[in-house]
Amino acid sequence: MNKSAREGISDVDWRDWRWQMRNRIRTVEALRDWVDPTQEEAKAITELAQRFHFVITPYFASLMDAENPDCPIRKQVVPNWAERFDPAGLADPLDEVAHSPVKNVIRVYPDRIAFCVNNECALYCRYCLRKRMVGDEDWTMQKRELEVALDWIAKTPEIRDVLLTGGDPLVFSDRKLEWLLIRLREIPHVELIRLGTRLPVTLPFRVTDSLCRMLKKYHPIWLNTHFNHPSELTPEAAEACDRLLRAGIPVGNQSVLLRGVNDSTEIMQTLCEKLVRMRVRPYYVYQAQLLEGTQHFRVPIEEGITIFKEMRGRTSGFAIPQYVLDTPHGKVPLDYPFAKGREGDDFVVEAWDGAIWREPNPR
Ligand SMILES: *Cc1c(COP(=O)(O)O)cnc(C)c1O
Ligand code: SF4
Repeated sequence: MNKSAREGISDVDWRDWRWQMRNRIRTVEALRDWVDPTQEEAKAITELAQRFHFVITPYFASLMDAENPDCPIRKQVVPNWAERFDPAGLADPLDEVAHSPVKNVIRVYPDRIAFCVNNECALYCRYCLRKRMVGDEDWTMQKRELEVALDWIAKTPEIRDVLLTGGDPLVFSDRKLEWLLIRLREIPHVELIRLGTRLPVTLPFRVTDSLCRMLKKYHPIWLNTHFNHPSELTPEAAEACDRLLRAGIPVGNQSVLLRGVNDSTEIMQTLCEKLVRMRVRPYYVYQAQLLEGTQHFRVPIEEGITIFKEMRGRTSGFAIPQYVLDTPHGKVPLDYPFAKGREGDDFVVEAWDGAIWREPNPR
């Protein structure tokens, strides 16, 4: 069924990001064009879509395995009945509301902020940290609200690095995004502008030549996207990343470690090596938060640490992302403790293969 749904759509429409946005899947019936939903999935969509939006782009739906409900693409976006049972889950595990000096700004470091400029995404990931706000009408951010946040940034000279996130800032039109970039570039202490966007993954056609021409007027701009599984690395996604890179925008990747999606050394290594071939640098892999309705996605931290320890012996250093836990105090690296500490005049380390090395380290 997957193939026939795609065949009914012209290439011009398919590659038009606005067509993709208008034709997003929001019901069990619409999903049936792409996959055979299980009874459980159908029930979860009808009953849980109220709690957290069920929306998928046709492009991302076309990457799903039509026959296999365990498909790692499908798991990320199709509601699962297991979302109902999660006694440990919290609405706001990072206490972001408390770290908000002004609406839409999250500040946990002195020098840099996450600026949630938009509450909309092209699709909604079931494990989204910002579930409490994305897709929610109450959070619809008016220009006036953005102005208030921009004023706060202008009055706070310590802020040198502004991460535009959301939601997804690339859901904005070029014009609206440019308005925001102009306003930020008017603030002399803002050195760096970063975009956090999943659109290269979920709607790569959004990354048009005209968007890239606009962005490169406001350098330095860095961009982090969010690939979780090698199946997401399609030619379309690679072209989107290439267009950004050719506009001089360094592209990094942030994944979330998810049970049944990327929780093995083999899958993580394949993902990271393929990213590097696209010249996309693996930056962070997040431990899944204690976020309500996501228990079935969580992997114990020890398992995560082992994955990245093993990768050290198997692949290029720049293909290894940093595994981090996000906390109300910022991101904390969860590296394997290769450094064991001082023994007399030596500093003792353990290599990836278990070898112990003593480096003379007199005080
Ligand atoms: C992740 C994050 C940043 C950026 O952190 P880096 O480690 O510099 O990439 C800034 N502010 C908040 C609130 C964040 O969550
Ligand atoms: S794209 Fe990012 S912000 Fe949007 S739903 Fe997915 S994880 Fe959340």
